[in-house]
Amino acid sequence: MDRLNSKTILITGAASGIGASCARLAAESGASVILADIDDRGGIAVTEEIIANGGIAEFQRLDVSSEEEWKSVVEKIIGQYKGLDVLVNNAGITLIKPIEATTLEEWHKLSRVNVDSVFLGMKHSLPALKERSLSHVAGGSIINMSSAVGLVGIPGALGYTMTKAAVRHMSKSAAIEFAEMGYNIRVNSVHPGLVKTPMADGIYEVWAQSKAFGTDDIAQIEKIMTEAHPLGRHGMPEDIAKAVAFLASDDSSYMTGSELVVDGGFVAK
Ligand code: NAD
Repeated sequence: MDRLNSKTILITGAASGIGASCARLAAESGASVILADIDDRGGIAVTEEIIANGGIAEFQRLDVSSEEEWKSVVEKIIGQYKGLDVLVNNAGITLIKPIEATTLEEWHKLSRVNVDSVFLGMKHSLPALKERSLSHVAGGSIINMSSAVGLVGIPGALGYTMTKAAVRHMSKSAAIEFAEMGYNIRVNSVHPGLVKTPMADGIYEVWAQSKAFGTDDIAQIEKIMTEAHPLGRHGMPEDIAKAVAFLASDDSSYMTGSELVVDGGFVAK
């Protein structure tokens, strides 16, 4: 499949889970992929795997909450690739804790990594995206990773749901602003349900320790959670990567400001 042929795509949080899967599929689809993460080891391992399979990829260390690092990574991309076609703001962290136990520092950390990152990514990637978007009919594409819980509330995750709701709304505002400015850059958000990644494994451990579902048996909790998704299974990183590849491609050229829900029916109930 060469759906992303000749596109340059920057994916944050690409060392693990959903981001790694997005990077693999983008490379298989013909893109030049820049994998960015704070996890050098994981990021380099996924990059080397993509290259070994014949793809074009490189790793850039990037802490998405650092404005200086964003500026420097985008500068390198402009120097090397003369622009960027797609930005996937995927890096994120979670926190499963009751409101009463959540500290202000934890709240601010969630905001820095999950929300500041999306603002900084969109702001500082714009020069690179504009280099390409103004000369291509299909234009550029920004894909912001929200969540099903950016659409509906859940208990025990106030800060996380706040960040994901913010990402949904920021995507819509940016979509309209960039359209009005004539930038030819689309912005959409993606809303996964529970996806089998290291992040989800960590969530299961916290739920087991706190007996949030009345049990410390992870298998039992997984059963309850998969049953909460009408399709009766976890999402897999590949399920989300396919949606991201669609939004990255010219097949979605009339989509901006939209929310793509990929959740096995979780929020439809
Ligand atoms: P993951 O923990 O497997 O991967 C997250 C990646 O982000 C890691 O490689 C980590 O090193 C990186 N990261 C964390 N902080 C960073 C920082 N400051 N700068 C750069 N990179 C950083 O998690 P995942 O499940 O693949 O999640 C990816 C995205 O999908 C997140 O935004 C998450 O909120 C969202 N999401 C996940 C699920 C799920 O169930 N797994 C559901 C909905 C949304």
